[in-house]
Amino acid sequence: MIIKFKEGTKIVQIDELRNFLKGQGFDIHESIGSTITIFGVVGDTTKLDPQSFYAFDFVDSVLRVQEPFKKVNRKFQPIDTVVDVGGVLIGGKNIVIMGGPCAVESEEQMDIITPLVKAAGASILRAGAYKPRTSPYSFQGLGIPGLDILRRMKEKYNIPIVSEVMSIEDVPLFVENVDLIQVGARNMQNFSLLKELGKTTKPILLKRGLANTIEEWLMSAEYIMAGGNPNVILCERGIRTYETATRNTLDISAVAVVKKLTHLPIIIDPSHAAGRWEYIESLSKAAVAAGADGLIIEVHHEPEKALSDGQQSLKPERFAELVQKCQKIAVAVDRTLE
Ligand code: PEP
Ligand code: MN
Repeated sequence: MIIKFKEGTKIVQIDELRNFLKGQGFDIHESIGSTITIFGVVGDTTKLDPQSFYAFDFVDSVLRVQEPFKKVNRKFQPIDTVVDVGGVLIGGKNIVIMGGPCAVESEEQMDIITPLVKAAGASILRAGAYKPRTSPYSFQGLGIPGLDILRRMKEKYNIPIVSEVMSIEDVPLFVENVDLIQVGARNMQNFSLLKELGKTTKPILLKRGLANTIEEWLMSAEYIMAGGNPNVILCERGIRTYETATRNTLDISAVAVVKKLTHLPIIIDPSHAAGRWEYIESLSKAAVAAGADGLIIEVHHEPEKALSDGQQSLKPERFAELVQKCQKIAVAVDRTLE
């Protein structure tokens, strides 16, 4: 349920309604703007009669929200959320580029790739220390030594880092070491993990599941926000369809739908969507044109030797060209890409 206050409502009146609702056990998502103040009431609101709120003479309107997601809902918070990832803002006018290899393979590999992606325009470094591989015989990631390498890259090159957490036990380790915690597609509905991440205030990059609807994806974001963590960034990375020419099908319409339904930022991962490096540039340009708030792209200096996802990794020089081309598109849609 959404309660909109009249313009000029006093702080004491807002306090009065807050105390009234909290007294009945409801949780409130507050959106306080310069002119409009909104309370999003979370809980079993079926027992509330919307009409009864008009008894408070400072209440402008009361609306029942049909969607199952509440805190994530744009109706609860009309203003876009901007998430601060180690000083880099995601969800504002500027489009943010994240780049790096699929996996941390060695200190030498990261020492080559990190300065190259940074020079090309990436403001966040990506790389997995724990890899969710389809086969148990494939490279599983370096684990803690991989996170140590990433942290050294962050310090040496002064760049925030994003990496995927795969288990609840590792959450404290990730909170301590990375700027943005990635929840991979395969864990999008790992509700225990989402609840644990909801207890932190770390920015979370929530990837869309392999075969999940947008509503299911937003409900997963709701789990994180319900726990008290407002710093959620969504990432569309392609979904399963009947098409086999690409690894997944990039659902570019998700950008438009997500922007309408939620205030949370959305970025695009063209690498896991396409599965082939040749298609990355086109999908990236489409993502920027469609209104995405950022891109996360796999980059490797020797893709043919990569321990995972080499076929979809761009060489650093191609990545640099892509960033330049996306800059032009950003300007055309009244954004910046710096
Ligand atoms: C990744 O980012 O390397 C990854 C495994 O992504 P996804 O969860 O989207 O498959
Ligand atoms: Mn990958």
